[in-house]
Amino acid sequence: MESMAKAWLEFWNGITQAASRETMVASAAVIVVALIVIIAAQLFVLRGRRRKTEERVRRAYETLEETWDLILITDRKGKIEYINKAGEETTGYGREELIGNGRGAWLPWRDDGKLLKEIQDALRSGEPFRASGLGTKKNGETFQADVAVHPVKNDSGAVTQLIFTARDVTRQKKLEDRLHYMARYDVLTGLPNRTYFAHLLKQQIARTNQEKRFVSVMILDLDRFKYVNDVFGFEAGDEVLKWTADKLRATVEKEDIVARLGSDEFGVVHIDHVQPVDAASVVARILDAVLDPVPVEGRELALTMSAGISVHRQDGEDAETLIQNADIALAKAKSLGRNNVQFYSQDINARASEFVFMEKRLFSALKNDEYLVYYQPYHQLTTSKVAGAEALIKWRNTDLGLVSPSRFIPTLEDTGMIIDVGEWVLKTSCRQMKEWGKGKYPHPLSVNLSLIQLRHKYLLNMVSDSLSEFKLNPERLTLEVTEGIFMHDMEFSTAVLKRLKDIGVSISIDDFGTGYSSLSYLKRLPVDNVKIDISFVRDITKDPDAASMVTAITGMARSLNLKTIAEGIETEEQLNVLRLLRCDMGQGYYFSPALPPADFAQYLSGPDGLPTGGPVQLKAAPMKAAPTKTKAATTTKTKTRTR
Ligand code: C2E
Ligand code: MG
Ligand code: MG
Repeated sequence: MESMAKAWLEFWNGITQAASRETMVASAAVIVVALIVIIAAQLFVLRGRRRKTEERVRRAYETLEETWDLILITDRKGKIEYINKAGEETTGYGREELIGNGRGAWLPWRDDGKLLKEIQDALRSGEPFRASGLGTKKNGETFQADVAVHPVKNDSGAVTQLIFTARDVTRQKKLEDRLHYMARYDVLTGLPNRTYFAHLLKQQIARTNQEKRFVSVMILDLDRFKYVNDVFGFEAGDEVLKWTADKLRATVEKEDIVARLGSDEFGVVHIDHVQPVDAASVVARILDAVLDPVPVEGRELALTMSAGISVHRQDGEDAETLIQNADIALAKAKSLGRNNVQFYSQDINARASEFVFMEKRLFSALKNDEYLVYYQPYHQLTTSKVAGAEALIKWRNTDLGLVSPSRFIPTLEDTGMIIDVGEWVLKTSCRQMKEWGKGKYPHPLSVNLSLIQLRHKYLLNMVSDSLSEFKLNPERLTLEVTEGIFMHDMEFSTAVLKRLKDIGVSISIDDFGTGYSSLSYLKRLPVDNVKIDISFVRDITKDPDAASMVTAITGMARSLNLKTIAEGIETEEQLNVLRLLRCDMGQGYYFSPALPPADFAQYLSGPDGLPTGGPVQLKAAPMKAAPTKTKAATTTKTKTRTR
């Protein structure tokens, strides 16, 4: 081009210097020829460029077609404009089926709309992004894909198209998942391994720290497993381990974690119990289950396990310490012989063995007819006549003798056995009332209800069925609940009591004054009687505060039309003070302890329902400590257990 321009200049100079007509004509001809040459040269260059561009486009197209990744181009509305060969192969759709359709034809991403949102963002911002998700093939199969999305902008910067590049990573993902699984699980049993066990335990600790529940860590080890391996070989050993893993999984609670920590060592995280010793009952169940004969090579082997337990907070705050301490406890259990359990803390050890001891015996107590119901009368304080009685359960066990309910009711509650036993007490009491007949015993009978029973969905049915089975007037039945039930869920408890009252039974608040009782809340409760706790009665002649409390309770109860019953009257002096404080009724050893049915019937046949010869003549004795102060609202916390 430069040389052409130079020639042109020289030529022009020639024209200006020799301006003859011929020269002019010749010059014009040369100009025309030169122009033609220039235009031809330009056209030649342009054609070369176009051919290059066409070549480039062809190569790019071939690259798109031959690449292994799926490439798809859509307009901004999602209509498919292009899909490459890999796209056809990956999705199973033909090009003609997809082009012109929406992206949804092959991309119904199961990614809860996250991808769609990202697409919208990219359309707005013009920024590329990466994502992964599940695509669906024409035959319905899904494939795991990693996707890169590039927005294409026009000259004014608006996004006109989106280019999707996707890769089917299904096989790679499966491999990764498998590796991930193998890093966390034991291949033989399918249980979490030691590392993952520690991780899961950490998570549980964090969770329960907020919820104030107990977590315990148990490490269990098969006794004499080496013997199985030595005598029957490793394959048999593997079978035993798998069998043990299944037993563990089937025995623990649903939320508990079971893991294989190594060789014949297993770990359990027991979650959600109300007291540390509850773990003892789970471990006892496991050790019992393992006692089942294991089938090994056509023979049956007897196995045992030993266990060490540590309890979160008491025996350590973090997962490592808890596992370590459970291991120490396991070593101790092993040293005591086979089939043994040890808690890390000696204090829990003692309680746990009592718990397991009681639980084992209580399991068969109902079936073996070991429970009894005793009846303790309560009297009108003004007339001293019998006004009613309370049914109190006792347990007669061959090892333990006659056991008082305070020793075994907590275990019945913790194990849920209270539901069946409570029903038995109610039915036995109703049958007894029926037997005594209306003439001999026209009074109400009180039956204690536990919080667990109150929460049970069949409580109302159970109460009305018991009444109708023995054709009893509901007025003859009183149900006693402790005020602790309101501490858990005031609204729920109040609603249940209201429905019980609708059946026609009466309600007493037991052990009143020991929970978080505020006198002012009495008026909100659907109750008929208030039983003043024994602790106030015991101190009533010595402690002005106790007397003030009783005065406040009787005063408030009277204003609400409720009756008061003092519990645990043992002396005449206490009785006299209570009469002066205008308590309505009283119960206690002064009148009678709880009696077996026959003795109670005899008691009823005494004058005014008093046993022949006792108790002493009721007369007002001078008060030792006159009540001086009145507490309108008192909160005392002497008992923690709710019934
Ligand atoms: P509670 O309902 O407050 O029963 C009164 C307890 O005080 C009884 O103890 C009774 O024997 C005792 N007692 C009565 N008079 C005197 C006295 O003058 N002095 C002394 N020191 N004690 C007296 P027991 O039979 O050991 O029952 C303890 C608790 O067990 C009961 O307290 C009640 O909360 C629970 N309970 C008893 N039977 C049942 C039942 O069938 N179901 C449920 N859920 N709980 C029950
Ligand atoms: Mg009671
Ligand atoms: Mg009581």
